[in-house]
Amino acid sequence: MDEARGDMELVPGRNCDGCVMCCKVFPIPETGKDDFAPCPHARVGEGCGNYASRPETCREFFCLWRLDGSLEDDWKPSVAGFVLHDPAPWTLLVSGDVDNPDARQREPYASQIRQWAFELKRRQMLMGARCGDTTRLLLGDREVDLNG
Ligand code: SF4
Ligand code: SF4
Repeated sequence: MDEARGDMELVPGRNCDGCVMCCKVFPIPETGKDDFAPCPHARVGEGCGNYASRPETCREFFCLWRLDGSLEDDWKPSVAGFVLHDPAPWTLLVSGDVDNPDARQREPYASQIRQWAFELKRRQMLMGARCGDTTRLLLGDREVDLNG
């Protein structure tokens, strides 16, 4: 998933470079791929094996690491082990890898995510985390399981 999107400014000099984390954690409606399932075209460390013909969904998505230059390189999803993204206004989401579900709880990520969650709550914005069948609301001082 590596090409400039019309209305978005990508961080200059950054590219996906073999990261295929978003290829795993999101559904691809055009191919019927479920979220958290590997895409048969994804080559870890190499990129998309179907790059020229990849679906529109793949062309349109960029994680926050590609969009926000203030995020250091350890927030690249292939390094962090999860994808940080903003799926809707006022919302920040951590989409985790089912094969590495605790990645967001490691440092330096856990402290930073807690701090963002506090700040977003203060601004009446939402921060959440999803991984497999689990969706949690992150409030900074606690997490709320939204699966009931
Ligand atoms: S998660 Fe981000 S860096 Fe990784 S492939 Fe997708 S857009 Fe590129
Ligand atoms: S088609 Fe390519 S870009 Fe799209 S999910 Fe599969 S590997 Fe990723």
